[in-house]
Amino acid sequence: MSNNNPNIDVDFDKNHLWHPYTSALNPLPCFGVASASGVRIKLDDGRELIDGMSSWWSAIHGYNVPALNDAATTQLSKMSHVMFGGLTHAPAIELSKKLLALLPKPLSQVFLADSGSVAVEVALKMALQYWQGKLQPAKTKFVSFKRGYHGDTFGAMSVCDPKTGMHSLFENVLAKQLFAEPPKNITEGEFDPASLEPLAQLLATQHEQIAAVIIEPVVQGAGGMRIYHGAVLDQLRALCDHYNTLLIFDEIATGFGRTGKMFALEHGESGAVVPDIITVGKALTGGYMTLAATVCTKEVANGVCESEAGVFMHGPTFMGNPLACAVACASLDLLATQQWQSQVAAIEQQLHRELAKCRDLAAVADVRVIGAIGVVEVREDVNVAEIQAFFVEQGVWIRPFGTRIYVMPPYVIAAEDLTQLTDAIYQAIASGVGIS
Ligand SMILES: *Cc1c(COP(=O)(O)O)cnc(C)c1O
Repeated sequence: MSNNNPNIDVDFDKNHLWHPYTSALNPLPCFGVASASGVRIKLDDGRELIDGMSSWWSAIHGYNVPALNDAATTQLSKMSHVMFGGLTHAPAIELSKKLLALLPKPLSQVFLADSGSVAVEVALKMALQYWQGKLQPAKTKFVSFKRGYHGDTFGAMSVCDPKTGMHSLFENVLAKQLFAEPPKNITEGEFDPASLEPLAQLLATQHEQIAAVIIEPVVQGAGGMRIYHGAVLDQLRALCDHYNTLLIFDEIATGFGRTGKMFALEHGESGAVVPDIITVGKALTGGYMTLAATVCTKEVANGVCESEAGVFMHGPTFMGNPLACAVACASLDLLATQQWQSQVAAIEQQLHRELAKCRDLAAVADVRVIGAIGVVEVREDVNVAEIQAFFVEQGVWIRPFGTRIYVMPPYVIAAEDLTQLTDAIYQAIASGVGIS
């Protein structure tokens, strides 16, 4: 393709398409993508960018992956979709078997949802119907940590951080939930029990109206890229048991190896900490298409079905989409056969090594790393348009938000490509691009 002959009508895009969190009338610039393969995103003008984002936690194997392409085309020739009401199929069944084999017991009942936000809605509704079934209908509130992120639909939004989730915009519509200060931003060293005191206080005083605690285990993603101690999970489990509330882990960002464990719940001090309900999504299909799942225990499912409705009140049109399930099966098979653990461990070490020097820069407030996630927090919000343009010039795709410049590359990234990502971050901050 000629470099000077772009095919993508970015002007039309600019005038008519909404993009995430940008003005429709005065949008940030968008780069047209012609194709992507391995860890490289090919722009319409011929430039190639090393991907540092895994398309928001999802493309863990990189792009254009032969095994995933094969799974999609094989399934395509059988059927792309059939309704899940009254019908079932091998891709959904195989995927659920594989998922349950990865998740700790007694998680056993799989709801296949069509996006992460929907999976969270489903988890919240399960908790509400569970308490109706248990004849404790006053338990309708959810508790979450400030700085959390759980999706953009109304139920999910209600448990997002009140400030970054802009609750004031929807004040009269959004359900009012309870928020506790999150645990300290720390993974190593001693666990500080005081860090859970605010949440324990809420449970102690209001447990009679609390249906569930919903949190992102160990890594708070889109709400602030924060990392906290794994012992928090054990404590949470004990508190929820003590105060008779359900525990929901939202692993939509952290699932499938990103934090160095298959699921972040495995960072518990005692090993795996088991929630009553878990949500997964994003990397489930290796970033190929939208699919998520909400998995609960038999105990929760029983309660839900003892409620007045007698059934769980949710059923999306594209529930259990066979095409997405087939690709998800192939993605989980790839995880099983490829060395994701050593890949993620190597990325973690390299991120530690190469991002450390950012600490010497005056503009940098903190550097933190866990698994294949590296975060450099600067002191002031970055100018996204400016820094983005610089990164593209450097041949890398990194998209900061707020004060966070971060990478979470596909697990298959080569060491020299990762160095190019970390160098670009250092160069941008050192030369003050987009940083005030
Ligand atoms: C991205 C995300 C969601 C929402 O998923 P979508 O597929 O974007 O709807 C929910 N929870 C967490 C932790 C996420 O990172």
